[in-house]
Amino acid sequence: MPIARDAASAEFFDGTARGELLLRRCTGCGRISAPQARQCPDCAATEFTPAPASGAATLVSWAVPHDREGRPLTVAALVELAEGPWLRLRLTGVAEPAADLSAGLPLTVSFEAVADGETVPVVSVAREGRHETVDRIPAPQEGPTP
Ligand SMILES: [Zn+2]
Repeated sequence: MPIARDAASAEFFDGTARGELLLRRCTGCGRISAPQARQCPDCAATEFTPAPASGAATLVSWAVPHDREGRPLTVAALVELAEGPWLRLRLTGVAEPAADLSAGLPLTVSFEAVADGETVPVVSVAREGRHETVDRIPAPQEGPTP
């Protein structure tokens, strides 16, 4: 996710400051795209209206970068929002990265203030829905690079 506020991202960061993850709804066909979308992939329209996400998401993939001492720094997750778009977000609240994670794991979007005063969306494991059966797959050795 871009951290820097500029003309294109101002609306997005105004949304996160209110606790809303704003997606973009195509004015042409109604398809919902990721916040950074510039053009609808379905109809090529470039006009959007803001569409707040429900906050429900599922885990698609993840990567755990480590520091020089081998300590995990963060969990970089690729998530699929309930509305459809895929986003790269930081996964918080995971004590043992990768041990508990599996594709399809239900996640919830929350918001976290960062150093420059902006608020960014992050995801955590949803408290409900963990009873759902998901096919466990081995943790990837290397996730997609952001
Ligand atoms: Zn469209």
